[in-house]
Parts: sequence; structure tokens; C-alpha cells
Amino acid sequence: MGNTTPGLVCAHHHLYSSLARGMPAPPKTPTDFQEILEQIWWRLDAALDLEMIRWSAMLGALEALEAGTTAIVDHHESPNAIEGSLSVIADACAEVGVRVVCAYGVTDRHGPDGARRGLEENERFLRAGGRGLVGIHAAFTCSDDTLAAAAALASELGVGAHIHVAEGLGDVDAPRRLAGLTDDDWLLAHCIHIPDDHDLKGTIQHNTRSNMNNTVGYTRPFRFANPVVLGSDGIGSNMIEEFRLAYFKHREVDVLATPETAWGWLENGWDLVPEARTDVVTWSYEPMDPWHLAFTPGVRPLEIVMNGELVFRDGKPTRVDAEEIRTKAAEQAKRLHARL
Ligand SMILES: [Zn+2]
Repeated sequence: MGNTTPGLVCAHHHLYSSLARGMPAPPKTPTDFQEILEQIWWRLDAALDLEMIRWSAMLGALEALEAGTTAIVDHHESPNAIEGSLSVIADACAEVGVRVVCAYGVTDRHGPDGARRGLEENERFLRAGGRGLVGIHAAFTCSDDTLAAAAALASELGVGAHIHVAEGLGDVDAPRRLAGLTDDDWLLAHCIHIPDDHDLKGTIQHNTRSNMNNTVGYTRPFRFANPVVLGSDGIGSNMIEEFRLAYFKHREVDVLATPETAWGWLENGWDLVPEARTDVVTWSYEPMDPWHLAFTPGVRPLEIVMNGELVFRDGKPTRVDAEEIRTKAAEQAKRLHARL
């Protein structure tokens, strides 16, 4: 192993959360995961407009490239700016030079009309040739009809669905609710509170750091027969760091755990976005070996080549101006925080 790898894949992101940093404290301090959703994320997503979504995606894509991540599997929600939102995200990522698999998280949180418009945004984007999955927020915020409609749309369009599963204790019913709906091309984020032996088909997606931040428990992803992939759940997309955290969390409960297991989860991301395998990232460290990387913080990309084009050089993106993106994103963050 030398100092290059293919482009890394963040298998579960929320690009819209890029502007959350510095947001005002919620009116009431959340004391559990449900309250974290209600007090923070469901107030934030409701305040988003398309311009904020554009610059949060530009910033998130820039930060991905700066971490050697060339592919993002995104899960988006913006209940007051649904129509066109997936195209805004896809265009922003393309402008920076990052691959993205988009999904709009369908939910009944905003009534049947909100669910219908979410489904329509997935359908519009996918039928127009967009790269994506059908997004579903989570079983616990969807009626059975909405879950069935989203699954039917996914199978009609020949793609999987991207859904949060049993991230908190309020969604322990998810395996029963999703019984018979999932397929091998589904992406099941979190799966913390599901039994080892379950009937869900698809790839299980693990977010070590986000789970620690939300105090939702340890998934113990090594217990599943399903393939496992790693994501950030919206906390940037530094996948070397996510790999390292996944290893240490595993090691914390098993002294025989090795970095190779978590590295294998990172590599499984290439099954979701195979094109990322053709991207070439040259790193500041050699060798790019799991046993080295688990104990070497601060490894960063020097150069990234995608489709023969140098998209990152000397710590900077080549297609866009990083300074300008940070300035514009900060302006949009200010607007967003004012609304909160
Ligand atoms: Zn998530």
C-alpha cells in the first residue's frame, strides 16, 4: 500500500446540516434523541430555503474533497423548500467535483400533503436522470401507506430506498413496519436498536460519531449478516476519521477487534458508488494501511484526480474558490440562524 487510495465514500450524510454549526441554542435543552430531533433538526430543516440548501451543499462538498471523500450518499429534508431541492444539491456537488447520491426523506411529519410532495421530489429527480435513492425519513414518522408508496416508487424506478432505522428507541418497531418492503439495494441508516437476527434486507449504515453525540447507544455493527458501510450523519465527511472512530468503538467492546474490520466497512462504500473506485487520492501519509491509519491522526489528501481531471491540488479545490464558498455559506448560515 502506497500513498494513494480510491476516492472515499461517505455512505450517509445530511449536507443541509453544514450550516447548523453556530446555530442559536434551542429554547429547551434536549434530554433525549426525540427531543434532539424536535428542538434542533426539525426546526433547522423547516427554516431552509433553496439558496441555503445550495450553499450548505457547496460547503459540505468542499469539506468532503478536503478530506479525500469523492462520493456522498446524501439524505435531505427541507419541508418548506421541497420542489427542486435534490437538483440544487446535485448541481452544487457537481460544481465542486464530488459525486452524490441524493434522496428526499419522505415523512408524514407535515401531513399527507408533505409526504406526497416528498415522494414527488424523489420521483421528479430520479425520472429526470438524477443519481439517487428514494428517501424515507424513518418508519416512526411515516404511515404504513407512505412506507408502502415509497417502497413501490423505489422498485418501479429500479433503485433502493435510503431510510433511518431504529436510531432511537422511538423506532424499535421499524423491523416489523418495514417487513416485506426492504430489498438488497436499500440503505438502512443506524439500525442501533434492531435484533442481531432480523429480516431487513439491504446495507446497514453505521455512524459512530453521530451516535455518540446523540447518546443513542452502540450499534455493534459486527453482529449483522448484512454488509456494513460508514457515514458521518452530517458531521462533515472525513471518512478516515470515521473509520478510526468505528475501529476504536469496536475495540472498546472487544480487545480482539482489529482496524481491518472497520476498514472493510469503509471499503464497502465502493459497492454503493462504484465510480469512486476510479478516483485517485494522493495522501500526505504512506502507507495508507488500516493499522497505520487507526493510530495516525491528521492524514490529509494532497491531490485528487476524478475522470482524469485534477479536482484538488495543494490543499485546494481546482474548480471552485474555497474562500468564496466559505464566505457565501457563512452569509447563508447567518440568514438561517436569524430564522431560528
Ligand atoms: Zn441521518
